[in-house]
Amino acid sequence: METVSGKGGQIDLRDLTPAQLSDYVVGLGLPAKRARQIFTRLHRPGVFDFFQLGISREVTELLASHATMSSLEPATVEKSTDTTEKFAFRLADGAMIESVLIPEDGRHTLCISSQAGCAMGCGFCLTGSQGFVRNLRPAEIVNQVLAVMTHMVANGINRATSRELLNNLVFMGMGEPLANYDNLLAALTILMDDHGLGFSERRITVSTCGIVPRMDDLGRDIRVNLAVSLHAADDAVRTSLMPVNKTYGLASLLDACRRYPLGKKKVILFEYIMLKGINDSLTDAHLLAEKLQGIPSRINLLPYNGPGEAEYARPDEAQTLAFQKVLREAGFNTFIRQSRGADISAACGQLACKG
Ligand code: SF4
Repeated sequence: METVSGKGGQIDLRDLTPAQLSDYVVGLGLPAKRARQIFTRLHRPGVFDFFQLGISREVTELLASHATMSSLEPATVEKSTDTTEKFAFRLADGAMIESVLIPEDGRHTLCISSQAGCAMGCGFCLTGSQGFVRNLRPAEIVNQVLAVMTHMVANGINRATSRELLNNLVFMGMGEPLANYDNLLAALTILMDDHGLGFSERRITVSTCGIVPRMDDLGRDIRVNLAVSLHAADDAVRTSLMPVNKTYGLASLLDACRRYPLGKKKVILFEYIMLKGINDSLTDAHLLAEKLQGIPSRINLLPYNGPGEAEYARPDEAQTLAFQKVLREAGFNTFIRQSRGADISAACGQLACKG
């Protein structure tokens, strides 16, 4: 659950970017150089209150009397047979969110949530079917990372190794990150700062269903990898799956992808959930190849993984392989991704906290 340490104040120091923290610390009458020390210590696993920061008693008491420090502890941790772990967190107001830790080749990818619930209503997504609860604050995004690192430390991994093991952060959990833009940007700024956890731009991926103006903002404001939930190469099909396509159709979405500033050797990751009889024909594959021409791309095909009673079904393997072949022959790096953690409902599109 979410806990809050500190008494008098309203400001949660874990909501603050380094620049905001510096202003705040100076406003308390402390020298600016203190802010860097406080920021570094705030973003260590296993730190739940100001007295664990390891700074002078005087400064500790000053902070504790003016500000708060929130943290998250998992309400539940479920481990899949494939070693994927799902963490459910209860926030201070009772809202539930989830994060998923996916070990792979000795490194870990952490999939984090940006909202409680989601307003985007994608038809194949359990989170979307539950509706929107609220945006997460920057601290609630950052605290997912710290809580998972704390869990790793509690399981015998030392602090430095817990950070080293956490190789990738992906904003692919609950919610549409770009619909919570300002808080996302603050959280990214915090997570990427070298005096804190120091995640590099190469190790963070923000996934969007295609909120075009915010994609432009993201490309302008910060350098991170972009993933786009595409799921169809035809407007009518995409609109039937993803209501956002009514507002931002494929042409404007793919133009935004063309404008997105990519570093050298960088690509946009396109995610394509394979739904039997809906978007899995070879005609769909050829159309997809045509639409993505000129965009440095990597395509992940995700055979549908949802509940059997749902209106969607998973294509058979031969169809998925044939679809992949068309894309590969058209020159696209295309991979079939088997969802991890399906037995604990941690796979793509399955996150939906049951409270
Ligand atoms: S797929 Fe993503 S954007 Fe769509 S409803 Fe689910 S969480 Fe929201």
